[in-house]
Amino acid sequence: MFKWLLLFALGYFFYRWLQLQKRSKETLKKAPEPSPQKALEPEPVVQCHHCKVHLPSSEAIANDARFYCSQEHLQSLDEQGWVGNAAWRLSPNYDARPEGVRPDVVVIHHISLPPGEFKYQESSRYIVDFFQNHLDPGAHPYFAEIAGQQVSSHFLITRSGRLIQFVSTQNKAWHAGLSSFLGREKCNDFSIGIELEGDGESAFEEAQYQALANLVKILEGNYSPLQFAGHSDIAPNRKTDPGIFFDWKKFQKETGISSEKLPYGLTSR
Ligand SMILES: [Zn+2]
Ligand SMILES: [Zn+2]
Repeated sequence: MFKWLLLFALGYFFYRWLQLQKRSKETLKKAPEPSPQKALEPEPVVQCHHCKVHLPSSEAIANDARFYCSQEHLQSLDEQGWVGNAAWRLSPNYDARPEGVRPDVVVIHHISLPPGEFKYQESSRYIVDFFQNHLDPGAHPYFAEIAGQQVSSHFLITRSGRLIQFVSTQNKAWHAGLSSFLGREKCNDFSIGIELEGDGESAFEEAQYQALANLVKILEGNYSPLQFAGHSDIAPNRKTDPGIFFDWKKFQKETGISSEKLPYGLTSR
């Protein structure tokens, strides 16, 4: 009888031991995995707007929400006629150049809105509004006069030397109006317009000459040979810009362009 009791007790302990073993295995399984060290976030990859190559964002040059792989591609005109180092503010005021016509003249202008306001505060945003047909006619008496005009330019260089592009160089911007370049009329058809922020009563800034020389270099790389004129040269009875404060000699020196490309001469006018 005692033997049976002993066997029963042994069986019971063996059964409990098995249960304990099973439970401890389950606990081990449930134990949380040791947390792996937090993986480093992969660096965002961006694409060069010019050549479409992919590269890590830290290696790219960013401008106006676009990326470039190199200074060379930043400082160039893309296949659609847009300059990489410009801020692009699209104007609806353009149309197509005549069939087969490539620009061969650059027309230099000045503009400021309200006139002369840049002397007191940064005001180039009004020029952007004007070329985008967003100028608020109630913001200034002069704006009420001009707000309905539909005009544009390919480029604007602000007082600080910032370059803004409104129209592709492949298209015709509406900057020259009634005009004649050495007997060739309708200058918008074959020209690129560059506005310098200014009022005809103050010298232009050094940063503007530098940005202009840089832009001319890019344009010459694509549209050579180019000739250069002021708005007053091609519309002498209507226009006075860029005016006597535009230094044509300095312009020639900084761009390195030859005198034959400046058919109206180097004197201030
Ligand atoms: Zn590139
Ligand atoms: Zn002009």
